[in-house]
Amino acid sequence: MSQPDCVFCKIVSGHIPSAKVYEDENVLAFLDIGPIAKGHLLVIPKQHFATVDSCDSKVLADVAMVLPRIAKAVKEAMNVKDYNILCNNGKLAGQVVEHLHFHIIPRTLGDAIRWNWPVSKYPMNEIENLAKKIGEKVVVSSP
Ligand code: 5GP
Ligand code: ZN
Repeated sequence: MSQPDCVFCKIVSGHIPSAKVYEDENVLAFLDIGPIAKGHLLVIPKQHFATVDSCDSKVLADVAMVLPRIAKAVKEAMNVKDYNILCNNGKLAGQVVEHLHFHIIPRTLGDAIRWNWPVSKYPMNEIENLAKKIGEKVVVSSP
């Protein structure tokens, strides 16, 4: 399943070149063309899905199976201990390429990467109510 106008589908099909790091039947990892740190790469399912919640869970599981090994490879190759795994879902979350992808971003002491993380507090009881509200929406998966 691919989308004709999707840049990452074109990378999967080889119509756009990429610096590949890892490839198997279902998953591809390649260096980000606009890195925010050296070694910043993207791990994607080969099938086109836009977001985590719209992705087939088996496909997502294939990606999850690969993520720890790629992260370990990044640590060793880039000689770092720390990294972020980031997945933007939707425009408001900063997603530009609408093909599900996980950024792996190596972190180094004193790097200039900062997340805008505006911490707030819940008023009384709201945290319990909210947990209940979201919890009720979680679809119980079938075996
Ligand atoms: P998003 O903001 O959607 O989470 O991130 C998309 C990422 O894809 C960006 O970091 C951007 O640099 C990267 N990107 C966009 N087009 C290409 C491309 O053609 N090749 C590669 N390797 N990366 C791309
Ligand atoms: Zn795609």
